[in-house]
Amino acid sequence: MSKLEQTLSIIKPDAVERNLENEIKVMFKNDGFLILKEKKIQIEKSEAENFYKVHQTKPFYNDLCSYLSSGPIIVMVLERNNAVLRNRELMGATNPKDAKEGTIRKKYGISIDKNSVHGSDSLENAKIEIDFFFKD
Ligand code: UDP
Ligand code: MG
Repeated sequence: MSKLEQTLSIIKPDAVERNLENEIKVMFKNDGFLILKEKKIQIEKSEAENFYKVHQTKPFYNDLCSYLSSGPIIVMVLERNNAVLRNRELMGATNPKDAKEGTIRKKYGISIDKNSVHGSDSLENAKIEIDFFFKD
């Protein structure tokens, strides 16, 4: 069954730094996503810690939060049918080495930490993450 959903996407610092913003947006648009909202920002480490708090017990948490706050990012609200799942499919596996051909991480990801994009992992988290960045 198809349902219209919104999900949160982030183009991470490694991709913004390499000027991949437009190419990645084209991949979303070609896959049927509408970019409903977007902004280019740089966040504080404390905000990254809050955003990624589900990972606070993981060994990579500190480096991950330093990394996400290390440079400009593009945060976007994406809409299409089954947006959460379809975005995860288009992004590809967390480790670019495991990502399938045609996915964003396969094409642009450098490593498991510098993997170019973030996408919400459930509809519930999508709502929380959209609010995190776009609540006025
Ligand atoms: N990450 C990392 N090392 C790991 C696993 C994850 O640096 O061993 C980073 C990676 O940037 C990933 C983020 O932490 O995108 C969040 O991890 P998650 O398991 O939620 O992966 P995702 O949902 O982004 O695919
Ligand atoms: Mg995740």
